[in-house]
Amino acid sequence: MRAKRVSSTRTPIYRDAGFLLGDIPTMKQAFADEHNHPHSPNSYIYSRYRNPNVVAAEEMIMEMENAQWSLLTQSGMAAIDVALSVFQTKENTGKWLFFTEIYGGTNSFIDKVLINRRGIDIIRFAPEGDDYSLVHYANMLETHKPSVVFFEAISNPMLITVDGAEIISLAKKHGARVIVDNTFATPMLWQPLNDGADIVIHSATKYMAGHGNLSAGVVSGNDPELAKQAIEYRKWVGHMLSPDEAYRLEDMLKTFKLRFTQHCTNAFAIARCLYSHPMVEKVLYPGLPSHPTHTNAIKMLGDKGYGAIVTFDIKGKDWAEKEKRCKRFIEVLSNQIPLVPTLGDADTILMPIEAVWGDKFPFPGMIRLSVGIEDEAKLVSSIKSALEQL
Ligand code: PLP
Repeated sequence: MRAKRVSSTRTPIYRDAGFLLGDIPTMKQAFADEHNHPHSPNSYIYSRYRNPNVVAAEEMIMEMENAQWSLLTQSGMAAIDVALSVFQTKENTGKWLFFTEIYGGTNSFIDKVLINRRGIDIIRFAPEGDDYSLVHYANMLETHKPSVVFFEAISNPMLITVDGAEIISLAKKHGARVIVDNTFATPMLWQPLNDGADIVIHSATKYMAGHGNLSAGVVSGNDPELAKQAIEYRKWVGHMLSPDEAYRLEDMLKTFKLRFTQHCTNAFAIARCLYSHPMVEKVLYPGLPSHPTHTNAIKMLGDKGYGAIVTFDIKGKDWAEKEKRCKRFIEVLSNQIPLVPTLGDADTILMPIEAVWGDKFPFPGMIRLSVGIEDEAKLVSSIKSALEQL
């Protein structure tokens, strides 16, 4: 006996590789629609092109992002590949300008793929000290006339928060298209498309999924021509999210705002606690007036929150003492706050900066906390108690 079909409030999982199209006219129409309305054709054809679970999660992100279209990919890196590749043609792509304080994987993608394999002309724009100079940025735009500008809203691990609206506006004045990696700010704190960005991407592996157990990325925008290009690229390169992961992501997105609100509240509480602690030399958190880019954070993020990453430096008379104390701090906390090389998990996790960034940030007492959604008071008390034991 066949099981009875039941209704569900969730999108059932469609694991089909290809979808039932019935007869020849239906199949013909499906392929024609796919060509003429690539973002929302009437029927599904093949899961690498489009899948109901993926679309259900994409529609939720479109609303969060205030975007006309969103496309999910199997990782944040795949989203970056899609976003950039839509601007690459066999004619001259021009120069692409990347801010330097972006995810290390993106910087490696630039070196190993964009430069070494694709031969793209890349220019990089670095901050001076603790912030980017917009005067120098405007000069660079004037001199190099890049066709694409790529930056992150909040950098990692120093949490340089940019003046996003101004960066986009200057790029537009000089005719460049703009891609923003908004993983750290999330659409809850900033919606770059509202400020004129062409494409916004996220590693959805982080706060959108938020449990440290799902890998996904998303590309969003408003321009229908860019949507067409991005759909085509995702389809032919095969950067599609699986239906099972999309199903899980759809559920996780329902709690995104609640979770990220708690992430931000906890992070601010920890930043304040660390700031006033005698064992701490320096705290980097965009919500603190002491952060060099606090003014940008206020301008760009308003008072909705300042993200969930806190970076701090443990005091010590020299490097050896800092290193020793950093090790001890991690040891004492290891039962409650483990060392895991990711961020955006519901649980608080940490990373020693020097072990990961090496020469770029050779600070042996520095730790990056990815603050979770646990009970705020308990979290603050565990950190205080670990500092007391140094
Ligand atoms: N963008 C940022 C800011 C990230 O931190 C990461 C990964 O850590 C990525 C993109 C890449 O995302 P994924 O690991 O999902 O490929």
